[in-house]
Amino acid sequence: MRAAVVQAFGRPLVIEERPDPEPGPGQVRIRVEASGLCHTDIHAAHGDWPIKPTPPFVPGHEGVGIVEELGAGVTHLAIGQRVAVPWLGWACGRCEHCLSGWETLCEQQRNTGYGVDGGYAEKMLASADFATPVPDGIDPRDAAPLTCAGVTTYKALKVAGVAPAQLVAISGVGGLGHLAVQYAKIAGATVAAIDVTDEKLELARKLGADILIDARKEDPAEVLKRHGGAHSAIALAVNEQAFTAVYGGLRRGGKLIMVALPAGGTIQVPIFDTVLNGTSVIGSIVGTRQDLDEVFRLHAAGRTKVIYRTRSLDTVNESIADVLRGEVEARIVFEM
Ligand code: NAD
Ligand code: ZN
Ligand code: ZN
Repeated sequence: MRAAVVQAFGRPLVIEERPDPEPGPGQVRIRVEASGLCHTDIHAAHGDWPIKPTPPFVPGHEGVGIVEELGAGVTHLAIGQRVAVPWLGWACGRCEHCLSGWETLCEQQRNTGYGVDGGYAEKMLASADFATPVPDGIDPRDAAPLTCAGVTTYKALKVAGVAPAQLVAISGVGGLGHLAVQYAKIAGATVAAIDVTDEKLELARKLGADILIDARKEDPAEVLKRHGGAHSAIALAVNEQAFTAVYGGLRRGGKLIMVALPAGGTIQVPIFDTVLNGTSVIGSIVGTRQDLDEVFRLHAAGRTKVIYRTRSLDTVNESIADVLRGEVEARIVFEM
């Protein structure tokens, strides 16, 4: 099987021919049909974050495909079934986080395409318990971006506690943001979408955003304040200043939900304003298997639209460059 491999941080990925991996106990082997390119894969390939993967590794945590072999003891999945393999590749199931519905915080978790090989490959292994079934009728190319971009933003909006009479700012209308706009509309909120390209703002408008803010031309904080301030802001742009800008656009009692992970990112939070305004600053990491199941059910019901361009895995390096230049409409999906 062919796989795109990070051999060293910051170097182009290399397409390698590898033997098909053999599923161990509790695992399945999947013939990958579609695999999304999340900005996280770029951070992984660059070694951007304090906890780094160990090269060589295969990135990708939006892999969707067909189960083709069951490891020992796997009884709840069947050969021929379509599943998605998200970032949360495995969690212990026993710790306080796992037991309280926060498996995404499990300290022992394994992450697909980071700690274990991921979906930039024709075949991949997954822990059967964490491979989420994809409902019939969902195109695998739609399911791929939902597996990270979808579940992450769906969860972030749950964490924000978005309600119908609220103003929600979506900062960055890329792979994650184009779905965040839709989930915020489904929740009934008024949506302010912020980006730095005409194409992304036009996409946000088409997907239902009520207020468009071009951060090149206007200060998002000022525009949001003119509308009374945002009840919550979901920070999805890979840019520290974008976090500060939406923090400044919150109303009293507002919540900044940090989701994007710019390398070495820090922001300065003024203590006085945060205290007097009762502001919350909250980190949000992907979503649970239950969240992903809900994301798939919303999509199967026709309530979300996934925007993507398909490419072959051979284009992996130019595809990464296009995402970094902001030249991708929303997501790139590799078709295997
Ligand atoms: P992306 O590149 O597709 O989208 C980023 C968007 O931000 C683009 O549309 C870009 O034009 C826009 N942007 C750039 N500068 C901006 C600015 N100053 N103001 C407003 N918008 C700006 O990336 P993505 O795949 O959507 O991922 C976004 C980030 O989220 C990455 O850092 C990724 O690692 C992170 N992420 C986090 C989680 C999590 O669980 N917390 C999950 C997935 C991805
Ligand atoms: Zn755990
Ligand atoms: Zn991701």
